[in-house]
Amino acid sequence: MNPETSVTAKTLFIDGGWVGAADGGTRQIRCPADTEAAIAAARRAFDDRRWAAVPAPQRCELLRKAAAAIRDRREEFARAEALDTGKRIVEARMDMDDIAACFDYFADIGAQDAGRLVDAGSDEVVSRIQYEPVGVCGLITPWNYPLLQAAWKIAPALAAGCSFVLKPAELTPHTAILTVALLHELGLPAGVANLITGAGATAGAPLSSHPDVDLVSFTGGLVTGRVIAAGAAATVKKVALELGGKNPNVIFADADFDAALDNALNGAFVHSGQVCSAGARLIVQDSIADRFVDALVERARGIVLGGPFDDAAETGPLISAAHRDKVHAYVQAGIAEGARVRCGGAFATGTSGTSDLDAGFYYLPTVIDNVRRGMSVVVDEAFGPVVTVETFTDEDDAVAIANDTVYGLAGAVWTQDAGKAQRIANRLRHGTVWINDFHPYLPQAEWGGFGQSGVGRELGPTGLDEYREAKHVYQNIAPAVTGWFADRRPAVGRAEEG
Ligand code: NAD
Repeated sequence: MNPETSVTAKTLFIDGGWVGAADGGTRQIRCPADTEAAIAAARRAFDDRRWAAVPAPQRCELLRKAAAAIRDRREEFARAEALDTGKRIVEARMDMDDIAACFDYFADIGAQDAGRLVDAGSDEVVSRIQYEPVGVCGLITPWNYPLLQAAWKIAPALAAGCSFVLKPAELTPHTAILTVALLHELGLPAGVANLITGAGATAGAPLSSHPDVDLVSFTGGLVTGRVIAAGAAATVKKVALELGGKNPNVIFADADFDAALDNALNGAFVHSGQVCSAGARLIVQDSIADRFVDALVERARGIVLGGPFDDAAETGPLISAAHRDKVHAYVQAGIAEGARVRCGGAFATGTSGTSDLDAGFYYLPTVIDNVRRGMSVVVDEAFGPVVTVETFTDEDDAVAIANDTVYGLAGAVWTQDAGKAQRIANRLRHGTVWINDFHPYLPQAEWGGFGQSGVGRELGPTGLDEYREAKHVYQNIAPAVTGWFADRRPAVGRAEEG
C-alpha cells in the first residue's frame, strides 16, 4: 500500500473486512457508531472463542509470521512511519526492527506458561491457576512511535487470546492500517483485530466507557489518561495507562564527561524530544555544571534539522503546527517565570541541507537554565526539543530534585562510582533507571511508570499478564456433607451420607 495514498474511504477493519466510515469520512472518522460496530465485532469474535480457543503455540506462530513479514517489508513500513511522523527514515527503520522483536518476544513467552498447580494441602483437592484472555481490549495509541506503541499492545493481546479494537492517533494511522491488513493476510480470524481511525474524543472515547470492552490500554498524555480512567470507572474495566514523563538525567562530577554529554543530547533531542522518556530535566552536579552546560549548548546549536529522507538531518520536525505552538508557548512561559534560554527557543526557518524548514514544523533545540523547582518548565512535559538545567550539591540533593515530579517514567544517573550509581538507582522513583546510558529498553524488561506516569506495565512477562486473567479452579474430588447449616439429622445419619 502506498502510504501517501492509502488514506481512502476504506480504512476501518471490522469483522474481517475493510469498510468505509459510516459517515463517509476519508480522513477523520467522527461517528462513534464505527467504534460501536468494531466493539461488537470484537465481542462476537471473543465470545465464540474463534481465537481464544486456538492453542497458544498456534497463536504465537502467527505472531512469529507477523515479525518476519514486518522485517521483509521493513522499508515500506518505515517509509509510512517516517511520512506520518516526520521522523528520520533511519529511526523509523530501527522502530520496525524493534516492532518485529516485540512480536517475536511475545511469541516466545505466549506459549510457555499455561498456569500452575497449587498445593491445597489435601489429597482430595485439585487446585490450579489457569491464565485466560482478558477479553475485548480497547487499544489507544499516540503519534510519536505509532506502530511501536501499538505493537506493545497488539502482540501480547493476541498471544493471550484476546480480540481488540485499535484506535491509533489520528495524525499517524498508516502503519496501524498496514499491520491490521497484514494480520488478516496471515490468517487471523475475522473480528479479532479491528481498527478504527479518527479523533480521540469521538472515535476513541467509547473504548474506555463501553461495557463490552474488558480492558482499555492507553498510551498518551496525562490529561487524556485521566479522561480514560474516569471513562472506565463506571464499568470497572481493567485499565492500563502509559502516560508522560518529566525524566531526570542526573550527571555527577565523576561521570565520563564526554559520554554523559553525548547522551544528554540524545536523551533530550532524539525525535526532537517527542519521546515519553526524553531526558528533559538535566540535573548536573554544581562543580561541573558551567563546563557541562556550555558544552551542551555548543553541541545543541550544531544539531542539523531536516526532513525524514534528508541524509544530513540529525533530527526532524515536530508533529504539527499546533504542537510546535504548544512547545513554543511552554518556552515562553518559562521565560516569563525568569528562566534563561541559552540556545534555541524559536522556530527553525530557512533551508538546511535538502530540507525546506519553512515548509515543516521545525523547532530549534533549546537549552534553558536559571530555573527553579516548581516552575512550569521544570514541572510540565514539553514533548519537544527542550531541556532544562538544574544543579545539585550531593547525593541526597540529586535524589530530591530527580524525584520532585508527579511523573515517574524513567531517569538516568551518570557516575563512574558503581556504588553511588546503585544507591541512586535504588532511590529514584521511576519505572526505568539507566546507569551511564540513556533511552535503551528491552522487550524482555517491563516498561511503565511510577506516579502519574501510568498504571501497569508493558513488555516483559508483566506486559503479557496485562492481557490475561488468572483463574483459580478448585476441585474437591471427595465431596462431603459439611452439616454446617440446620442439618438436624442425627450425627450417625450424616456420617452414613458423607
Ligand atoms: P494524546 O493523549 O493526545 O493522544 C493519545 C491517543 O489518545 C490518540 O490516539 C488520541 O486520539 C486518543 N484520545 C484523545 N482523547 C481521547 C479520549 N477522550 N478518549 C479516547 N481516546 C482519546 O497523546 P499524544 O499527544 O498522541 O501523545 C503524546 C503523549 O503520549 C505524551 O504525553 C507522551 O509522554 C505520551 N507517551 C507515553 C509513552 C509511554 O510509554 N509512557 C509512550 C509514548 C507517548
